[in-house]
Amino acid sequence: MSLEVLRVENLSFRYNSAEVLTGVNLTMAAGDYVGLVGPNGSGKTTLLKNILHITPPTTGEVFLFGTAARSFRAWHKIGFLPQKADSLHPNFPATVREVVEMGLAAGRAKNSHELLKRALGKLNILDLQGRLIGELSGGQKQRVLLARSIVNEPQLLILDEPATALDPESRDNFFSLLDGLNKREAVAIILVTHDLGSVGSYASKLLYLDRRPLFYGSFDSFCQSESMTSYFGPSSQHIICHQHNDRKQE
Ligand code: ADP
Repeated sequence: MSLEVLRVENLSFRYNSAEVLTGVNLTMAAGDYVGLVGPNGSGKTTLLKNILHITPPTTGEVFLFGTAARSFRAWHKIGFLPQKADSLHPNFPATVREVVEMGLAAGRAKNSHELLKRALGKLNILDLQGRLIGELSGGQKQRVLLARSIVNEPQLLILDEPATALDPESRDNFFSLLDGLNKREAVAIILVTHDLGSVGSYASKLLYLDRRPLFYGSFDSFCQSESMTSYFGPSSQHIICHQHNDRKQE
């Protein structure tokens, strides 16, 4: 059986009196690649914050690698690339190497040099390591921030709208990097995106959230689901599924 990375049990969350999430259940194993999609305000970022225990759920429970999130300590197993990561100040006085170094978890000092080199190498930015972060293009900067989020070699990588600010070429490069981590190293990925039309070309599972999960499962079962056909309409479902089928034929 493959390693359980994440289990969310009957989670709900409210801000003051407003219930934002209800009845969320999901399980992820090593190597899963979940596209988390839903309208604006549907609770995607809130769910990530609940999973990462930044704001604990109001009811229900999150388990990370089999341990309840409230007692979980092995945070180096999880990488997080938050939304608007591109908003680093242009004059932020740090080099690429220093920014990636900031991601190193405490207690990993022993092989920090090796971890740093590997992360820079995977993202193909070894030659940029002495440059100031503010001097880089949007695509380069996003690679640096991805390097920072994987520097501890996490087994679960959570990304909140990571490609919004990228041009199409940098976006393609960015997604092939993620694909490599997922396929070669079985890193489990949760990718939040508003792009329902193309998420099927990256992810193998879909979580469609609208304050409650309307669908969680493989793209194949999504594409065969009659209830999803009646929810999205046959042509929208076709667009989503077409992308996914293209990916499978590669
Ligand atoms: P999404 O990421 O899908 O756009 P969010 O998780 O950011 O959705 O927000 C879900 C709902 O929670 C929205 O209605 C939003 O207005 C509300 N919300 C988000 N953050 C807060 C907060 N700090 N206090 C109160 N309400 C919030």
